Amino acid sequence: MDREIRDVVIIGTGPAGYTAAIYTGRANLKPLVIEGHQPGGQLMITTDIENFPGFPEGIPGPELMSRMRQQAERFNVDFVYGSVTDADVSRSPFSITLDDNREILARTLIIATGATAKWLGIESEAIYRGRGVSACATCDGFFFKNCRVFVIGGGDTAMEEALYLTKFASEVVLVHRREEFRASKIMSLRARKNSKITTMLNEVVEEILGDGMKVTGIRLRNVKTGELTEHACEGVFMAIGHEPNAALFKGQLDMDDYGYIRTNAHSTETSVKGVFACGDVQDFVYRQAVTAVGTGCMAAVEAERYLESIR
Ligand code: NDP
Repeated sequence: MDREIRDVVIIGTGPAGYTAAIYTGRANLKPLVIEGHQPGGQLMITTDIENFPGFPEGIPGPELMSRMRQQAERFNVDFVYGSVTDADVSRSPFSITLDDNREILARTLIIATGATAKWLGIESEAIYRGRGVSACATCDGFFFKNCRVFVIGGGDTAMEEALYLTKFASEVVLVHRREEFRASKIMSLRARKNSKITTMLNEVVEEILGDGMKVTGIRLRNVKTGELTEHACEGVFMAIGHEPNAALFKGQLDMDDYGYIRTNAHSTETSVKGVFACGDVQDFVYRQAVTAVGTGCMAAVEAERYLESIR
């Protein structure tokens, strides 16, 4: 088995990973980036990004990611296609095993594996994703001006998404599968007080309805009575939680109750020296490309300083 030792290994190629690559590449640390099997992260399924500074006309998600990659390529960054199947950060240098069994040793490790939005898993949801079905109000809310939209979920994210959508939509219907919201009191109250938001409780999504091109409505089932009802709408936002992609590090790095990697305040340092986490794998609050870029930069700067300290 080949073993190579690198100063910097970055796992993940969303905005956080590419930014960490650009910075560490430019600092001459010859980083190795492990791309995963779907390079580019969550933005690869985002149509238009209108809030990434520097692109006044907006930019398609895949194009933004392709530009970030090209920028990283300028700075002597090595990319490896493939996924990490095992990671051991119990001793330095850290060991990373890829799915082709190659082992890579790393003096610093930057984890930028992101998070994955949870989906209901029904067929119609997949058909209309990007055509009325979304899991990100901040990304797509703008496209639903004066529309009626549904938000699925009862946690803080659902409240926040619903409130955000009232800026654009004419009506926001919050659909929750139970009688009680899981969200914090303050967030639930804020949503309930908003005159544009109505709630439907004890309801689950049976089907997303559409004309083949776009969403036209939603079919709900009442979990108490079994009654099926259909409602016209232009958009359906899933807000049933996110899964941080951090399973590889369970038991090795400190995490919160939801599995997000804990980082020190104002830093990307994790509970293991030399291991840094940036982007959505450590951030459930902002989850924006811009904030991921910011923490990717922080991780790179901190990795560089750490390497200097051990030399
Ligand atoms: P949560 O896990 O808190 O909530 C998920 C919600 O989706 C729950 O109401 C759950 O229902 C519902 N749900 C899950 N699966 C399904 C399904 N298959 N069908 C229908 N409904 C489903 O996730 P969030 O993303 O809301 O929050 C995660 C963490 O992030 C929390 O700690 C939250 O407080 C935090 N957060 C904080 C914010 C802030 O402070 N501003 C903003 C956003 C999030 P049920 O209740 O029945 O389980």
